[in-house]
Amino acid sequence: MEPINHFFMLVDFGLGIKGRHILAFCQVFSPSSLLVVYSMPLNVPMFQHYKFTAAERFLQYVQIDTQSDPQSSSYPSTEKQKDLSKILATELQQMGIADAHMDEWGYVYATIPSTTSKKVPVICFCAHVDTAPDCSGTNVKPILHRNYQGQDIVLPDDKTQVLRMSDYPYLQKLTGHDIITASGTTLLGSDDKAGVAEIMDMANFLMTNKNIKHGEIKILFTPDEEVGKGTAKVDLKKLGANFGYTLDGGDAGSLEDETFSADGVQVIIHGVIAHPGYAKDKMINAMKIAGEILAALPKDRLSPESTDGKRGFIHPVRVEGIAEKCTIDFIIRDFETDGLKKKEDYLRTQIEERMRTYPKASFEFTVTEQYRNMKEILDVNTHVVDFAKEAIARAGLELKMESIRGGTDGSRLSFMGLPCPNLFAGEQAIHSKLEFISVQDMNKAVETMVHLVCICEEKS
Ligand SMILES: [Zn+2]
Repeated sequence: MEPINHFFMLVDFGLGIKGRHILAFCQVFSPSSLLVVYSMPLNVPMFQHYKFTAAERFLQYVQIDTQSDPQSSSYPSTEKQKDLSKILATELQQMGIADAHMDEWGYVYATIPSTTSKKVPVICFCAHVDTAPDCSGTNVKPILHRNYQGQDIVLPDDKTQVLRMSDYPYLQKLTGHDIITASGTTLLGSDDKAGVAEIMDMANFLMTNKNIKHGEIKILFTPDEEVGKGTAKVDLKKLGANFGYTLDGGDAGSLEDETFSADGVQVIIHGVIAHPGYAKDKMINAMKIAGEILAALPKDRLSPESTDGKRGFIHPVRVEGIAEKCTIDFIIRDFETDGLKKKEDYLRTQIEERMRTYPKASFEFTVTEQYRNMKEILDVNTHVVDFAKEAIARAGLELKMESIRGGTDGSRLSFMGLPCPNLFAGEQAIHSKLEFISVQDMNKAVETMVHLVCICEEKS
C-alpha cells in the first residue's frame, strides 16, 4: 500500500525567542511517513547542561583574608592579597589558560584565546581581590541559606546581626533563591570576590564550551581597589584590551556607566601671630577663620549629608592648624566637570567674604584633579555600554542604569585608555556584617558576560 502522503509537522519547542534557530530534520517513523521539523534555538540551551561554579568558588575565596590597608605605602598594600591572586592564577592555568600569571604587584593577567576567525575587539573583565578595611575580613565563615522564603536571617556568631527584608527591600526579589551571608562577626567579601568568582566561572564555561564563538578575552584581577590604588601598577599595554567591564556592582541587571567627577581643594589660611599677652589689635587667629569658613558652609544643600542622586557636594575632610596657619582639605564632587568648577568658585567666594574682615590675613586655594566621570569616555565609545545592555537583556534581566556616587577603578581605567563601565555582580549590603548575595544572581552575571562576548563577535 502506498503511503497517503508524507506528513509534515512543524514543531517549535518555544524554548526561546532570541538567537538563531537551526532546522533539524529527522525521520521519526519508519518507513518514512512522518517528518518532523524541529526549530531549535541555539543559544538558549547554552547554559542548560552547565553546572555553574561561581558560588562554589566564591565560598572558597571569601575564606581567604585579603583586606587592604589604607595606611600602607607598599604595593600591594598587604601581602596577603597575593594569597588569593596566586590561587586564581593557578586555577586559570588548570583550566588550560596558558599565560595566566600573577605579577610582582599582585595583579593577575590571563587570556582566553579567540575561537573565531573574525577580527573581534579584545574585551577585558576585571575584578578586585581585596576587601574593604571598614570591617574585619579575617576568618570569614560563609553560610549558604538555600531556598530563601522571606524569613529573617539571624547570623549565628552574633545574634544581634539580623538580615531583614524590611531593611533590605532587594530581598523581596530573592524569594526562592539561595543566599550566602557571613556568620555575624565579619564582612562577607562579595565586594568584590563575587566579581572574581563570576569571571572565573565565565572562563571555566568558555574553556569547556569551545564551540561558542568569541574573540580574545582578557582577565584582570587587581589588588587595593578599596584603598584607591587598584590601578596604580596596572599595565594596560600588557593587558592589550580594547575595552573592559568591572564586575563590581549590585542588583542583577544593573549597569553603571557614570561616576562622580572629583577634585580636591586645599585651603591654607595664613593668620598673623603675636605674643598672646600683647596681641591686642595685632593677632589674627587662622584657626578661628577656619572655623568661620566651616560654619558658613551650607548644611541643607551642597553637603554629603543633604544630597543624593545626581547632586554633588563640597565636603571638608580634614582640618589641621595652629593660630598662625590653618589648612582645610575639601573634596568636591559632581557628575559634571562644569559643576565641579561652579562648586569650587562658590567655595572660593565664601572664603573671600570671610577674609574681607581680616585684611592682614591671607589664603591659598589649590585645586587638584582626582578623577573624572567615566561617562565622558563612554559617550564616545557607545558600543561598550550597548553590548552590555543587550547582554543583560539576553540573560533575561531587566536593565537598571545607575550612577555611582564615587569613583571606581573603572573610571580610572576609562581615562587611562580602557573604557570600562561596571556590570552587576550581585553584591548587597557591602562593607557590612550583613552583606549577602544570591547564588542565582551570580550565575546571571556569568551568563551576562558570556552573552556579551558572543554579541561582540556577532557584531564584528
Ligand atoms: Zn568593589
